[in-house]
Formats: sequence, C-alpha cells, structure tokens
Amino acid sequence: MACPAMGRRLNGRSISIHRCYTVSETATALGLHRGSVLRWLSKGELSPIDQSKPFLIHGKALREFIDRRTPRKQKCALHEWFCFRCRAPRTAAFGEAEIIGANVNSCNIRALCSDCAAVVHKRFSLKTLATLRRIIRLSAPQHLKHLIE
Ligand SMILES: [Zn+2]
Repeated sequence: MACPAMGRRLNGRSISIHRCYTVSETATALGLHRGSVLRWLSKGELSPIDQSKPFLIHGKALREFIDRRTPRKQKCALHEWFCFRCRAPRTAAFGEAEIIGANVNSCNIRALCSDCAAVVHKRFSLKTLATLRRIIRLSAPQHLKHLIE
C-alpha cells in the first residue's frame, strides 16, 4: 500500500474541537508522518481553515475527517462469523458448521467463510444452539454430539 496510514484506525480523542492545528501538530496528535496530513490536504480530503500558509486545520474538521475514515464496527448476526480475511461478517459456506469444543456455557464453532473459504471461529452460548440449528447444519464430534441432539 502506498499510504502507510491507509486503513489504520485513527484515534482523534486527543484532538480538541476548540482549537486549530498545524500540519505537524496534526501529525503528532495522530501519530502519523506529516506527509500523510499533507497528502490529505492536497487531495482535498481534509480542508484547512483557509488557503494561507502555514495551513491550519480546525480541530472540528479534523475530528469529522477521522470519523469519516474510521470503519464502522460490523456486528455479526447469530448465523454469521467475522472473517478476518474478508474483514466482514460472513455466513458459513454450504450452510454447515462444526462444534469443535465446549464448556458448560458455550461452545466454539468452526465454519468456512462463504466468500473466501477461510476457516472462521466463533463462540456461541449453548442457549443459542437451538436457534442456530434451525439456520445451519451443525455437526459435532462424538463426545459433543449431545449438544446438537
Ligand atoms: Zn472470508
């Protein structure tokens, strides 16, 4: 990737919305190189308060910029696994999943991502198994068979 800041979560909590920041201050506050900030300015992704140099960026504009860039947390539905390869919730390939471990309250269920076939794992409360079974086919090794019967 060309831009080291691309895809990185930016933390704007140290940015005050009541003051202005120079390019260097912005970079320091976000733990980035000045070049990243200058690139955002040149691309128009981030707007300075005016075109006079040195550029000043309003804290409020900076916070809004960070919010726009921060990917929303994607919540998985009951029958979805978070696939780290796709970076998104995915259903189980072929509608099948396998219980691979369990304790008194929960079990670990393995499936294949329906999109990229990567192995995905998720913990399920034993209470949700009945519901899950209505959505996908569950299998289990002999010693855990009682969980799905
Ligand atoms: Zn995937």
